[in-house]
Amino acid sequence: MSFEVRERDLMGRIGILETKSGKITTPALLPVVNPTRLVVPPSSIRRMGCECIITNAMITLKRLPDEARSRGIHGALDFNGVIMTDSGAYQLMVYGELDINQEDIIRFQEEIGSDIAVILDVPSGGAKNREEAEEAVKETLLNAEKSLSQRRRSDILWVGPVQGSPYPDIVKLCAAEIGKMPFNLYAIGSVVQLMESYSFDVLVDVVMAAKQNLPLEKPVHLFGAGHPMMFSLAVAMGVDLFDSAAYALYARDGRYMTPYGTQKFSELKYFPCSCPICLEYTPQELIKEPEHEREKKLAIHNLYVSLSEVQAIRQAIIDGRLWELLEARSRSHPSLLEGLRRLCGYSRYVAKFNPSIKKRAILFFSSESIKRPEVSLHLEKLEKLPRPDEVEVLVILPEPSSRPFYRSKERRILERSLNLSEASKRKIQFAFKSSFFGLIPEEVEDVYPLSQHLGVPDILYAKEHIASAAYTFIERHDYKLVVFPVENDQEDEKIEEVCRRKGIVLTKIQLPEKGRKKWKKLGEALTEIMKCTHPEYTT
Ligand SMILES: [Zn+2]
Repeated sequence: MSFEVRERDLMGRIGILETKSGKITTPALLPVVNPTRLVVPPSSIRRMGCECIITNAMITLKRLPDEARSRGIHGALDFNGVIMTDSGAYQLMVYGELDINQEDIIRFQEEIGSDIAVILDVPSGGAKNREEAEEAVKETLLNAEKSLSQRRRSDILWVGPVQGSPYPDIVKLCAAEIGKMPFNLYAIGSVVQLMESYSFDVLVDVVMAAKQNLPLEKPVHLFGAGHPMMFSLAVAMGVDLFDSAAYALYARDGRYMTPYGTQKFSELKYFPCSCPICLEYTPQELIKEPEHEREKKLAIHNLYVSLSEVQAIRQAIIDGRLWELLEARSRSHPSLLEGLRRLCGYSRYVAKFNPSIKKRAILFFSSESIKRPEVSLHLEKLEKLPRPDEVEVLVILPEPSSRPFYRSKERRILERSLNLSEASKRKIQFAFKSSFFGLIPEEVEDVYPLSQHLGVPDILYAKEHIASAAYTFIERHDYKLVVFPVENDQEDEKIEEVCRRKGIVLTKIQLPEKGRKKWKKLGEALTEIMKCTHPEYTT
């Protein structure tokens, strides 16, 4: 088995996973197929471009054991792609104790020729408290350990389940332990309740707790991912595979999926979709179809929407625009926005995996945008940026109107009005205020994406952002003098505070509101200041 990563964005990746029935491209959605109730035939799912499906080994064993054994799971389901079987842990949770043990279910998955198979885990999702969740993890780990000697086929990809949800600290322990065992894939379980209650913030903590403690090179599956509007969030956290029964469950309830939410089919006057079903029927026509036909066609539509969202995510990874997609989707529901905000808290960690250079400029839309990993990485680098040897003075400059700032007309006006010797100029370090990156020292402005971005600054957040970046930058470096144009109180207070604390002389310059005059005056004022503080270097 091999898992080869081809492209990356955030923690998301496009990979090729090799199985005994062929290769699949990840991130991949595995539609859940109930072997006893095929709403959409697996062969039709295959024709929709889907490379893999997931079915339940426990139900297959109970309801069609002979057929599955004699024809294999691929023959029984008439699907010539990749088939993953879930052990049936979810049934264990819903129906309580089952009279099947782990060895039986492992053997059965081997007999029917699953491509990807799961050991018998104990879901923590049904736990009433922490103790029960810990107990579920203990049993899961015990099963995982035992499975190593119970497995006979080595051409099957074995999945090590991570339980402990909704408690991130228990998930962390489980992931760290099971991550040491030789599994081909790992899967995060017991998140369905979090999805159903729209607790996307907790979901982020759970998935990140698992991802931070599992081997990085192994693919990770998320059980029960549900609605397409959250797929991008899962992929951004490094989830490579996910299954969903939602397309069929929603269809049964007459719910019509869109990438940004769900609508009651009966309330639709128009179909906002161009899949074959929505092109062939109007809602008025489809509602007249017999119930089972309507359910099937709605399920097909829901599946198209889910699969095309996966395609959109893959393309976003190639374009380096996964964060932008994530922000767009997070506007579908307030709970998803909460999920994104929680992910912002992991921005520095995510930055470790995010490519340092992308093909396209990055886009800023909101206060969440300034928490994206590129910004976190820049702020982290600012703290460590060495101060050029001769520099004694930090001059913070207003934000020019064009990028790169050092080539802007404002910066050129400033340069022309500076009447200083070269030796004197070498004493000065210039840093521009940036609504998106906080503070950009002039000498690093060519580093991606400090000049390669577009955005609409959120004035409220920008001031705080600049103030905090300037504070940290001054705190980490030793200057004799900081020169600072007065623009707003928030920045003033922060910079005054840090200069006072570090014993740095601070000179504030009052500037006209706008235009050329502002930059000309800045150059003149700076010339005067340098003549007073560094007379030996001035002309
Ligand atoms: Zn459609």
